[in-house]
Amino acid sequence: SSEKLNFSASDFTEKSLIVPSHGGPADYVGYQAYREAGGYSIAAALVNCEEDSDPVLKAMEDSGLRGLGGAGFPAGRKWRIVQAFPGPRLMAVNIDEGEPGTFKDRSYLERDPHRFLEGLLIAAQVVGIRTCYIYLRDEYHDCRAMLEKELELLRADPPCELPRIELRRGAGAYICGEESAMIESLEGKRGLPRMRPPYIAEVGLFGLPTLEHNFETLYWVRDIVEKGPEWFSSFGRNGRKGLRSFSVSGRVKQPGVKLAPAGITVQELVDEYCGGMQDGHNFYAYLPGGASGGILPASLNQIPLDFDTLQPYGCFIGSAAIIVLGHQDKARDAALNMMRFFEHESCGQCTPCRVGTSKAARLMQADAWDNDTLDDLSQVMVDASICGLGQAAPNPVRSIQKYFPHEIGVL
Ligand code: SF4
Repeated sequence: SSEKLNFSASDFTEKSLIVPSHGGPADYVGYQAYREAGGYSIAAALVNCEEDSDPVLKAMEDSGLRGLGGAGFPAGRKWRIVQAFPGPRLMAVNIDEGEPGTFKDRSYLERDPHRFLEGLLIAAQVVGIRTCYIYLRDEYHDCRAMLEKELELLRADPPCELPRIELRRGAGAYICGEESAMIESLEGKRGLPRMRPPYIAEVGLFGLPTLEHNFETLYWVRDIVEKGPEWFSSFGRNGRKGLRSFSVSGRVKQPGVKLAPAGITVQELVDEYCGGMQDGHNFYAYLPGGASGGILPASLNQIPLDFDTLQPYGCFIGSAAIIVLGHQDKARDAALNMMRFFEHESCGQCTPCRVGTSKAARLMQADAWDNDTLDDLSQVMVDASICGLGQAAPNPVRSIQKYFPHEIGVL
């Protein structure tokens, strides 16, 4: 019932909801335990459902689930788009998790891998996909070993006919989290983002229609199909709907993955989920979306954190990595750190990004910023970069100019 789903803030801890429908502790749930608790029953019931997939597609659409890797594209709509292209179709799952400050995918994967795999099976059945590629961050060594073992168990005792599932290792490049670069990498090439159109949904992996998803998006599929779309959309605060897994780090007492209602404000998140600020640190600023999502001052602590709500402030939530700064930190230092990161991670394919990030990082080291030159540079990067890395790289610059002028010699 909706009452039962109306969790109080204290229920919304990482532990209580990591394994929501098992109702048990957050201990690791292996294949046997997952099956015994009713796992894979939804996937088994949906075998050969491609022709009659509308109820599932509708549930996905009604739930409001959006791509949780950062782009926020509605998941159900994506399924319909890919399904409409003639097969064979492929799936590519992104577990590269390279956005600074983001660690939610690993947190779920290392505890409850089969909830994700069941979501993958459901998506494959609905969209009509026979081969799925999982692109796993290479630094997640233990997750790889665990996933290989769990996939073996699944293949040895399948709940239904399985698609081919290929596990591939990333190679530590941030840009390979960008969907088309990941696809290039999966094809064995250097991870250079593609120009679009054509979009991945139509011409993706090996030139075939491809359903591309972030790990966490698939993680919620089973619960949405099982409990109904209203279950997911019943959560939310401040006019927003759904759940978000915030990776919170920085000057808070209890950092970690916080499963919270979409639309929660950073102040509520810090106070209710993170035990407040660390002793000796006053809330000064926050990064609402990892390295790319900009920086906001503590005075803007009442903005609902969700897709679309941060745009008016020149920021975005991305993969919901919240980094909290205290009054002993400087926002400009964080911005410079980000720009150096983008400079290092730029794939170098296009000049505005390759040269722009490098020039911006140099300009940002000056005590007093040359704002005219930085403005020109930012505009060129936004207008002329091929992919989101170069387009979003100026966000930290613009945030500092707008909200922290006192830090860069402009009063
Ligand atoms: Fe590569 Fe940067 Fe151009 Fe993206 S914007 S394609 S990362 S050089």
